[in-house]
Amino acid sequence: MPSTNIMMKDIKEIIIPEEVIQNRIKELGEEISNSYDPEDEVIMVCILRGAVIFAADLARHINLPVTIDFMDVSSYGQGTSSSGVVRIIKDLEENIENKHVLIVEDIIDTGLTLKHVVDMLKTREPASIKIVTLLDKPERRVEKQVEVDFNGFEVPDKFVVGYGLDYAEKYRNLPFIGVLKEELYS
Ligand code: 5GP
Ligand code: MG
Ligand code: MG
Repeated sequence: MPSTNIMMKDIKEIIIPEEVIQNRIKELGEEISNSYDPEDEVIMVCILRGAVIFAADLARHINLPVTIDFMDVSSYGQGTSSSGVVRIIKDLEENIENKHVLIVEDIIDTGLTLKHVVDMLKTREPASIKIVTLLDKPERRVEKQVEVDFNGFEVPDKFVVGYGLDYAEKYRNLPFIGVLKEELYS
């Protein structure tokens, strides 16, 4: 994206450039495709809203006839840290029983949200559950029972935006992962 993008004035630093993200997604798509049997019925479960852009690009690099579904969850708790108790805002349309679920996440921070999503989906008796996340902040992990199967990038403990990730619902449409200038977090 040219530096004429009007959102660039708010960006302090680009952490992962667009091209690097796109190359990694191709690799992830290949890894994921190879991890399933071609006969497996795979449902991609995209966690709204942050994972939408990643899921859209990733799906086009998965060489299997996947179904795409969406789930929106909200974490009870205040400010920037999640409590891990999640409420379903929008549930899946698909029945996942005996299907192979691939959860698509934008970022795993404490891991608490994902732990609850996994536990909830397990009760529906899918054939398997795998997790792919674009970003992982391992320094912040509280919930260590959640195992990530496919991880795009590890990022430092900084609040990042872009490529689906927001600050106050903005910046999701930046094609890269970046950090905002401090003065914007008022
Ligand atoms: P967790 O339960 O793992 O702490 O919360 C993960 C969720 O918090 C992510 O799916 C994402 O929505 C949000 N989150 C965590 N870290 C960041 C970050 O650096 N930037 C943004 N925009 N959202 C984040
Ligand atoms: Mg998320
Ligand atoms: Mg958010």
